[in-house]
Amino acid sequence: MSVKVLKFGGSSLADAEHFRKVAAIVKSEPERRYVVASAPGKRNADDEKVTDMLYKCYDLTRNDEDIDNVFICIKRRYEKIIKDLGLDLSLDKEFERIKMAILHHAGRDYIASRGEYLNAIVLANYLGFDFIDAEKGIFFCDDGSFDAEKTNRVLTDLLEKHEYAVIPGFYGSMPNGTIKTFTRGGSDFTGSVVARAARADLYENWTDVSGFLMADPRYVNDPKAIETITYKELRELSYMGATVLHEDAIFPVRVAGIPINIKNTNRPADRGTMIVKNAELSADDGLITGIAGKKGFSTIVLEKDMMNSELGFGKRVLEVLMNNGVSFEHLPSGIDTMSIIVSTDDIKDKKLAIAEEITRAVHPDYISIDDGIALIAVVGRNMVNGVGTAYRVFKAAADAGVNIKMIDQGSSELNIIIGVEEKDYQATLQGIYSEFVK
Ligand code: ASP
Repeated sequence: MSVKVLKFGGSSLADAEHFRKVAAIVKSEPERRYVVASAPGKRNADDEKVTDMLYKCYDLTRNDEDIDNVFICIKRRYEKIIKDLGLDLSLDKEFERIKMAILHHAGRDYIASRGEYLNAIVLANYLGFDFIDAEKGIFFCDDGSFDAEKTNRVLTDLLEKHEYAVIPGFYGSMPNGTIKTFTRGGSDFTGSVVARAARADLYENWTDVSGFLMADPRYVNDPKAIETITYKELRELSYMGATVLHEDAIFPVRVAGIPINIKNTNRPADRGTMIVKNAELSADDGLITGIAGKKGFSTIVLEKDMMNSELGFGKRVLEVLMNNGVSFEHLPSGIDTMSIIVSTDDIKDKKLAIAEEITRAVHPDYISIDDGIALIAVVGRNMVNGVGTAYRVFKAAADAGVNIKMIDQGSSELNIIIGVEEKDYQATLQGIYSEFVK
């Protein structure tokens, strides 16, 4: 029998009504065997995520303040779900233990992880599945990095002992047994790790949208959904700001070639987005897969006559950035010019020092550092076959009256990245979207 691993995000497990939808989805196919649960998310715009409330408890104890009000709210969230589902389950003992731990200054990660721990217990009880604590199967190394190989080995054995199970997302254990979490949204990563260990045929990531959209709907009106995207394209788009899936979540499944299907818990019949290793080209695939962008960049522009023949020029400039703890995003250069795109946050408070150090290191004829740059990435696996894609990107920008400040085409021809002034961000996104998506 094939195996599917499902991960449900916080909004899909926020209340009893969503738990019912989740159960209907899980029970509709016997292959849906392993379920990774997030902590209860927001039920409405004014609501608070359980994880955020747990972080609040940690902050309160650090300031020796009372946690009772927040702790009661957390407890009630779970009790309401249990009552509304009519379950014969009490979490009293768990809550007593967790409260003691918090009062005894348990670690921040331990406290935050209890959101998924408790929700997975409730979900396992409701589904009639086994509960597998993530601390028994997800491991970190001493330096805090994820221990992929140990996890894969131990988790594979563990899963084999359970035909159907629920595993809490977001955390695992350190070699000394303490709990550590991944970064925020890390249950996506847990799902991917479980899919790899279960040798799953498919990793279904259930959330509250029907997959990825071709552009950010805050800037582009009613963008189309992406049906199929490759891991590589997704990496480009999420790096540039497209959210939905945790940035790291593709890595474990990519190793094993397991596809990810982003699905909507509230509209399970929607196809969602398939994330695959290689996508067959089909006639109705467009030239581009998606457009994403980010504001908040700065350019360091350098000019010097004969720069091209000065050995080590680039190295010395980059050394200055390295010594200031700044990494660069892009580095388009001309014969006598070089521009370096960096994150504005990374250089703020250091601008003057960086300019002085670069001047000392390479004596440029001209140097300037300008903020207010937005980067836009046009991503598409089909671009490599198309003639004139770059032309159409520039034409779209020109038609929108936008001056392009920087151009960078990845060597894989998977993307074209342009830099524009932040004020032109929306117009550029809209222009490019309408150029390519009719
Ligand atoms: N509950 C955690 C968070 O809010 C992890 C997750 O939902 O993936 O970040």
